[in-house]
Amino acid sequence: MNYHIMTLFPEMIEQGLSTSIIGRAIEKGFISFEAINIRDYSGDLKHHKVDDYTYGGGAGMLMQAQPIYDCYKAIEDKIDSKPRVIYVTPQGSVFTQKMAAEFAQEKDLVFLCGHYEGVDERVLEEIVTDYVSIGDYVLTGGELPAMVMIDAISRLVPGVLNNDESALTESFGNGLLEYPQYSRPEEWMGKKVPPILLSGDHKKVDEWRLEQSLIRTKERRPDLYEQYMIDNPPKPEKKKRKRKPKPETEGE
Ligand code: SAM
Repeated sequence: MNYHIMTLFPEMIEQGLSTSIIGRAIEKGFISFEAINIRDYSGDLKHHKVDDYTYGGGAGMLMQAQPIYDCYKAIEDKIDSKPRVIYVTPQGSVFTQKMAAEFAQEKDLVFLCGHYEGVDERVLEEIVTDYVSIGDYVLTGGELPAMVMIDAISRLVPGVLNNDESALTESFGNGLLEYPQYSRPEEWMGKKVPPILLSGDHKKVDEWRLEQSLIRTKERRPDLYEQYMIDNPPKPEKKKRKRKPKPETEGE
């Protein structure tokens, strides 16, 4: 997976993606990224200006179309294909694990990070394929949302996590929140690890975990629980067939 991030603050992206699991995945070559400074594509060679006033009035400046378009075209030329272009915006669909899994299938992904009041609509119409938000609140810029998405997507790229299975059993993997987990010691502040987890009976542990996931999801995310129950309706209990009583034989 190769990420191409169009931004006014490349150093923010470089710092944010260089540590921990993502940093290691880059070192190992499972993912790569380039943070491209939109300012390098400014037509204003003296001040590298990339923003201007909004037509119709209103507070704040708007990122202009041309530098973003030229920046995108340079990426397109470099990779010699038309990639998906995600504009991170509070006006987009809210990012989910399902979207992360879908984006993880791509070879290249382009992110456009807005700033100030946002971006001239005309360049969005021209290049953007996906409008994605990280939630119903407004941030100062798109760098953090892009990094949030890149982190979640990268975890689903094969090889990035040491144990590929863990992404499947985690929250949202099966539509539920993950069950509670415990590590050593067996007792801490008078609280004991549920005995079933020490039993070594994997079937019982799995049943307990599913039950806990259901309880937790119902409590904390009733919306997810409702959907899960629609997608996984409880199996009707098999009715026990009543045996016909044996006819009494005469003379008994
Ligand atoms: N004027 C815009 C509006 O009302 O929709 C908000 C612009 S915001 C101050 C500047 C930039 O931050 C946006 O262009 C976008 O790239 C990014 N941004 C802010 N909040 C975001 C969110 N919740 N999700 C994704 N990106 C966001």
